[in-house]
Order: sequence, then structure tokens, then C-alpha cells
Amino acid sequence: MRKPIIAGNWKMYKTLTEAIELVNGLKRNLYDIIEADIVVCPSFVALDSVSEILIESNIDCGAQDVYWEKEGAYTGEVSAVMLKDIGCKYAIIGHSERRQYFNETNDTVNKKVKAALAAGLTPIVCVGETLTEREASKTFEVIKDHIQNGLSGITKEDILKIVVAYEPVWAIGTGKTATPGEAQEVHAFIRKLLADLWGKEAADSIRIQYGGSVKPDNAASLMAQEDIDGALVGGASLKVDSFTEIVKKSVGRQSCTHL
Ligand code: PEP
Repeated sequence: MRKPIIAGNWKMYKTLTEAIELVNGLKRNLYDIIEADIVVCPSFVALDSVSEILIESNIDCGAQDVYWEKEGAYTGEVSAVMLKDIGCKYAIIGHSERRQYFNETNDTVNKKVKAALAAGLTPIVCVGETLTEREASKTFEVIKDHIQNGLSGITKEDILKIVVAYEPVWAIGTGKTATPGEAQEVHAFIRKLLADLWGKEAADSIRIQYGGSVKPDNAASLMAQEDIDGALVGGASLKVDSFTEIVKKSVGRQSCTHL
């Protein structure tokens, strides 16, 4: 049985004051949720404060990126060891915005995944096709490339520590969600691929999140799909009420907040 994991990617939003307000609101609303792992991923500048607020809570903290070297003259970068040290548990790796704007490749994803694992962080590895790739019927080819190369050399033991996020690029921040059926089709493909590469037992226990315009009104139907084990949420994770609703609906709870 895979425990769902719902993560909020705050991207380059929220000042420190706003981040603290948001996380305190989530802590208040979600304190009794035990059916899912809940993660928030603030900007690097808010990570330490948010992580401190979350100590001994049921919400964990994640970074939006990580560098693969332990330390050194790499101006502007943050290492996995530094993230672990401030209480971070997860790191998003290979988000499509990083692939698109910051030259992230499968090769850099691979180095980051290995560094995160070595430091004891759980990598949330993003894969997904662009609209052009989908329209050219290349979805499965692209996913295979992201998984095979991005996760190359990961041992059978370590692959169990990874979370995969399927994020069709055409659905990120666009308001266009993959239908539950479209998402399930790709999730099932990913699980089969993981089974081919690391064995069925491993594949059956790896969590695969869906990301791309997840909102309170579509969370439950996406989560009801057999191979969808959670959500990576961007825009809708920036408001206390909408992220609360997504988490509650994802685990089948009635919500008492009003949007
Ligand atoms: C994301 O950034 O990972 C994401 C899925 O964004 P949104 O929910 O806004 O589409």
C-alpha cells in the first residue's frame, strides 16, 4: 500500500513573512492528517524558518532544487548536505521550469538525485512531455528518456527512496489538467518502466505523483486512479485554503474551509 504524498511547490513566490504566514495556516488546518505525507517546498531563503516551524509537525519541508557537489566554489548553489542540515527532507529535482530556463538535463538530474540520496534527502524527480512532444506522439519516448537517463545507476535499494512526479509540461500553470484517464495512462507506463528497470516489487512501492494544474475540484478524481499516489501542486499550493482542500480531498476527508 503506497502512502499518498502531496507536495506544494511554492516556486519563486512568497517573501519570508508571507511564507511563515502560509505555513502556519497549513499547520493549523492539516495537523490531524495522517493518511498522506504532506510537503511544502518554499524558496531557499524561507527554507530554514519554515523548516523550524514544521519541527514535530506532520508536514515536511523540501527544497525546489539542489546542487550535486558537497561544497566548494559554486557561487549561488546549495548542497544536499546544507539542506539536510536545516531539516529539509525532500528535494524537487528536474522540474520542467529548471529544464526549460536553467539548462537542467537528464545528466544534471542524475547527479542531483545521487547527491540528494547520499545526503539522506528524498528526491522528487520530475518527468514529463511538452505539448509539442505530446502532439507528436512522443510522450512515452520522452518519459522513458527522463527515467532511464535521469535515474541511471540508481541501485535497487535507493530507487525505493525516490518519488517520481509526472508533470506534463502543457498542464503546468496553464489551468489545463490531464484528465484522470490521460494521467493514469502515463503513470501506468512509468510504473511498468520502473518494473522493467528495477523489478516489480520496487515499482509497486514507488510513489508517482501527478502535477499540472491540480486544484481542489480535480484532486479527488486524479487521486482515485490506481497509479496516482499524490500530487505536486504549484499555483494552488500558494493559498492556505486551496492547499488544505487539495490535501483533504486527496485523502477523502470532508473539508470545513470555504473557498
Ligand atoms: C508545478 O509547478 O510543479 C505545478 C504542477 O504547477 P501548477 O500546479 O501551477 O500547474
